[in-house]
Amino acid sequence: MNKRNGIDEYSIFLVWFAIAFSILAMIFKSDMLKIISLVVVIYALFRVLSRNAYKRAYENRIFKEKFLNPIKDTFNISKKNKKDKNYKYIRCPNCKQQLRIPKNKGKIKVKCPKCGHKFDARS
Ligand SMILES: [Zn+2]
Repeated sequence: MNKRNGIDEYSIFLVWFAIAFSILAMIFKSDMLKIISLVVVIYALFRVLSRNAYKRAYENRIFKEKFLNPIKDTFNISKKNKKDKNYKYIRCPNCKQQLRIPKNKGKIKVKCPKCGHKFDARS
């Protein structure tokens, strides 16, 4: 795999996406879904074998920033909310900064320390 991009998170996601589509294609007996899953597999293979590693790494970074990290973030926040008895974890609606507010205080006014945005939150 010298000078090739290799397998990254984006390629792995594409393969899982294709597997999901081919399962759906079997369930719904849809040729269109089969074609989509085939195209996605070919694209994933193209990315793995691509010699333009710089561009593939850039695509992978964008994928992680725009798609993977927000999903991981949502999981992290709900995990923290289950664990923590005293605080609730929320996001600033303006800048998406993670904030910690006291639990069981009803409706409270929150000011984001990062951007200064004021909003009401239920704790
Ligand atoms: Zn903010």
